[in-house]
Amino acid sequence: MIVKVLLPLALSEPFDYKTDEPIAGGALVEVPFGKEKMVGAVWQTDVKSSLDDKKIKKIIRVLPYPPLQKSLRNFVEFVAKYNMAPLGMVLKMVLSVKQVFGDAKMLKLYELSGKTLSEAKLKNSDARWRVIDFLKGGHIFARSEIAQGAGVSDSVIKTMIENGVLREVLQEDKKEFAQPICGFQKVKLNDEQQKAADYLCAKTGEGFGVTLLNGVTGSGKTEVYFEAVEKAFAAGKQVLIMVPEIGLTSQWLGRFEKRFGVCPCEWHSALTQKERVDNWKAVINNEVKIIIGARSALFLPFASLGLIVVDESHDASFKQEDVVNYQGRDMAVMRAKYEQLHIILSTATPDLETICNVESGKYEEVKLRSRYAAAQMPEVEIIDLKKDKPIKGDWGTSWLAPQLCQKLKDNLAKGEQSVLFLNRRGYAPLVICRDCGHKIECPHCSAWLTEHLRLGKLICHHCGYMTDIPSMCPECHSADGLCACGPGVERIAEEVKYRLPEAKIKVLSSDFVTNFKEVQKIIKEMEEDKIDILIGTQILAKGHHFPELTLVGIVDADLGLMGGDLRAAERTYQLLSQVAGRAGRGEKKGKVYLQTLHPENAVLQALVNGNAEEFLNLEKQTRKIMKMPPFGKLAAIIVSSVNKKEAEDCAIALGKTAFNDNGISTLGPAPAPIYMLRNKYRYRLLLKTAKNINIQNVAIQWLQRVKVPSNVRVEIDIDPYSFY
Ligand code: ADP
Ligand code: ZN
Ligand code: ZN
Repeated sequence: MIVKVLLPLALSEPFDYKTDEPIAGGALVEVPFGKEKMVGAVWQTDVKSSLDDKKIKKIIRVLPYPPLQKSLRNFVEFVAKYNMAPLGMVLKMVLSVKQVFGDAKMLKLYELSGKTLSEAKLKNSDARWRVIDFLKGGHIFARSEIAQGAGVSDSVIKTMIENGVLREVLQEDKKEFAQPICGFQKVKLNDEQQKAADYLCAKTGEGFGVTLLNGVTGSGKTEVYFEAVEKAFAAGKQVLIMVPEIGLTSQWLGRFEKRFGVCPCEWHSALTQKERVDNWKAVINNEVKIIIGARSALFLPFASLGLIVVDESHDASFKQEDVVNYQGRDMAVMRAKYEQLHIILSTATPDLETICNVESGKYEEVKLRSRYAAAQMPEVEIIDLKKDKPIKGDWGTSWLAPQLCQKLKDNLAKGEQSVLFLNRRGYAPLVICRDCGHKIECPHCSAWLTEHLRLGKLICHHCGYMTDIPSMCPECHSADGLCACGPGVERIAEEVKYRLPEAKIKVLSSDFVTNFKEVQKIIKEMEEDKIDILIGTQILAKGHHFPELTLVGIVDADLGLMGGDLRAAERTYQLLSQVAGRAGRGEKKGKVYLQTLHPENAVLQALVNGNAEEFLNLEKQTRKIMKMPPFGKLAAIIVSSVNKKEAEDCAIALGKTAFNDNGISTLGPAPAPIYMLRNKYRYRLLLKTAKNINIQNVAIQWLQRVKVPSNVRVEIDIDPYSFY
């Protein structure tokens, strides 16, 4: 019999293999590939091969896992086709933990053999009896556990093993997952919350459906969707909860534990290899029921998925721009569709795409309009930096308007917490020489280096290049010419320290994102009111709940509104309202100050008026007129090469052969805003089509018209989110 096996490689075609026994579709099999062995999935059974029979190799073995379900295989096909990625690379995201295919690690444990001490010709000693007492009744333990439990040294155990009183037992090294407990500690929902929860529960378990849970910050969305999670779980199903930045959710985990009595199983890049192995196996074997994960969790081989929740569903970090480009939120909806289940998109600031899907009736919506209990929405006020100019101090430039400084001081005097938000890491975004005008640039990218004073380094935020802060100008060698230009969070912290030396100040920046412990520590200190003023980047916008926080200052509300990004306004709106939403979540009312040079800007006005609808309508009109998503489709084409000329020629050739008719238009080629990135020259084109056109097909036909040299890469990004 011949079957087709898809391998986790950058290829779209499965290969033919022979098998003596019938094999189920989706079965995971080990096959010879070149000189190696590889694990893939049976993609098609009982096929007629066009190859010479002698050339077809035999499947080595079928792995002891349930086959990948048809729904998952269909989903993999869809993701590959929609995002124009090789099928094998999407499968690779499913089979992401190679180690689960090796032999399971065995643990050496010990039990009583039944042989007595005297039979073993050992003396009766207290220590030996303690070991026997510890193990009697059929207990099995590792050597170190016995030593500890019985309070004996390892040599006592060694003798007992050698003389046959203890017997070795091999057991698979497998993590036991504690199961969530239904109704462990239910919170009492208020009327509005209960209604929303009832609605979500009614939909859960009733086939495919998408519900937007649209509730203002602090309205209790988590508590509400937990009800649906419990319902699916009680029905014996698995639940996937997708969150943007997993490392930052110790608060979330704490709440889950309080509600369900155990911690959920996690899935994200910060897991150890052992954890990845345990969790992957537990998911496919249906041993774990509730998984909280980053976008990559979407590709786990769930055995009995019953509900998906996408928390903070507006978050742009659900979009992956890596080997396979995909929008995790949208793909989650598709997975729900293939699995025929309910998916909840939970957010305070839904994206325009989602809103349009609600309006067209594709998605349902439930709203939570008020904050939980006594908490009120914060008041938002604009500080016009043209009128209320920051006043220079002895330490140098200032970035905080006198009004904001005064409010910070008052808040400190009242003993309440404040947050300052600036979406710029480091000390200064640019270092410039006053004597010769030289700006320090990354040697690998067309981008300035950011000064990180805390680390004593200049860092490129695009490629990670890092160098010591030079003592003199690399160009004119002036010893005191170099100066920092513009503020980053570290510099704001410096100013606040000068202005309010008695305040306890901390900086929370996404530089630490790799250092989860540090982030958790600062968040915990903030929660426990051990920090007066927290200064941070967008990391602050992520769902944190600080009950004592009453003042939020947005240092530069204009940042992010500039630039050619189609979602700039929307994203700024989301980011600023999320940050603003951190204020006043406890009993005291919160106040938010926005520093800006453009007080009349529609985004900022919408924040002041708390009128999201007005802003979104405006945004919708603009995109409608320009036929931008969700009213049209976009695909970005990025041409890059270490060879400048070849990149340019290829981009020009693509431009010349581009379609421009009947609902299809192409912009570019143009040098990318970051023209050089990691030593590669980059050009961009943007394909735009009407909504009813299959943009993937257009792109395929177009790319076929151009021959791409081997050292030029042409990358396609469907529904692009970044345009650098
Ligand atoms: P959101 O996700 O909508 O911003 P959260 O779910 O984080 O809101 O809820 C905000 C705070 O209010 C949390 O501390 C949460 O535990 C609390 N809360 C919300 N609803 C209830 C409830 N019904 N009973 C007790 N506490 C609640
Ligand atoms: Zn760089
Ligand atoms: Zn100089």
